[in-house]
Amino acid sequence: MSKKINLKSLSKDELFRFIEDRGLPRYRADQLIHWIYKRYAAKIDGITEFSIDLRNVLNEITFISNLELVKRLKSLDGTEKFLFSLEDGQTIESVLIPDKSLRIRRITLCISSQAGCAMGCSFCLTGRIGLIRNLKSYEIVDQIIAVNRIIKPERITNIVLMGMGEPLANFDNVVEALWRVVLFIGISKRRITLSTAGITPKILLLPKKAPEVNLAISLNATTDVSRNEIMPVNKKYPLKSLINACKRYPLQPGRKITFEYVLIDGKNDSAEDAHRLVDLLRDLRCKINLIPLNPHAGSSLKRTSDQNVLEFQKILLQNNMRALIRESKGQDILAACGQLKAMY
Ligand code: SAH
Ligand code: SF4
Repeated sequence: MSKKINLKSLSKDELFRFIEDRGLPRYRADQLIHWIYKRYAAKIDGITEFSIDLRNVLNEITFISNLELVKRLKSLDGTEKFLFSLEDGQTIESVLIPDKSLRIRRITLCISSQAGCAMGCSFCLTGRIGLIRNLKSYEIVDQIIAVNRIIKPERITNIVLMGMGEPLANFDNVVEALWRVVLFIGISKRRITLSTAGITPKILLLPKKAPEVNLAISLNATTDVSRNEIMPVNKKYPLKSLINACKRYPLQPGRKITFEYVLIDGKNDSAEDAHRLVDLLRDLRCKINLIPLNPHAGSSLKRTSDQNVLEFQKILLQNNMRALIRESKGQDILAACGQLKAMY
């Protein structure tokens, strides 16, 4: 007997072809998309709109995969961390960041794009792990489905690709996942942010292939010398090429590129750095998120003092830059990848 097909492994075109090849009417594919991505059916038998006969036919040849929840940790600040296990036993994290302060409730999910990461940034715990493997597109999307199931009847409203991994190093799967999030799950591209360490050619390719999501850049330094030291990706794609790619990124009206700047004591937090940051970003429609380093045991890097964070911000503000201080959230639940932070 041939192996059963995971319906979540099929793209939209593949799903329609699969349905047609079996002599079923095309609307069955639309129904499958609806039940899998909007109603979070965990198995074929959960699709109660289908007759028992049809479910039997599908059960013979297909199945629906699901992430397995391994751990759920809730922080005092409302942030929740989920640890999921994948088919091969690897684990990934997703972080839920509810924002009750807004009139319209915003529920952001920070999702992973890889198990581990190959970029090796010195301040980042995921970087220490190294790359284990790329996530498949359905494993990226499934984090949203799994958490939506858990928080029902509420729904995730915003997505940030800021969990484990470098999304642009898993380009094709991330692009396919973005399409599914927009078209199948129904989250607007304006409510999705992709964060990258700066793989320049892929930043240029992204708007040609993917929905026009918001872009965030992990900048973290203002000279090539210091960026090379903490973010090795900079040796291949130095600051100039990164900033040029940002200048070419098509921005929707009213949108800005976010630059994340993790403040590390004595490494990138001087007044000169702040002034250089102003010069670097002067011609860009952007905002800057200053994130005091969330230190972790694997590294000797230290967090900048609160006083210094304020002084750094002051220089940016005096030069008409938009700069906010973003504390890492969920510190009590060990935002363990060291990256969990309030993006919004
Ligand atoms: N690989 C992508 C997305 C995941 S990292 C990227 O680098 O953009 C998400 C964010 O977490 C990055 O902005 C990174 O600078 C930040 N980060 C990583 N380690 C951190 C730490 N120890 N403290 C604070 N922020 C951290
Ligand atoms: Fe990878 Fe981003 Fe961590 Fe760098 S900061 S190691 S790119 S996850």
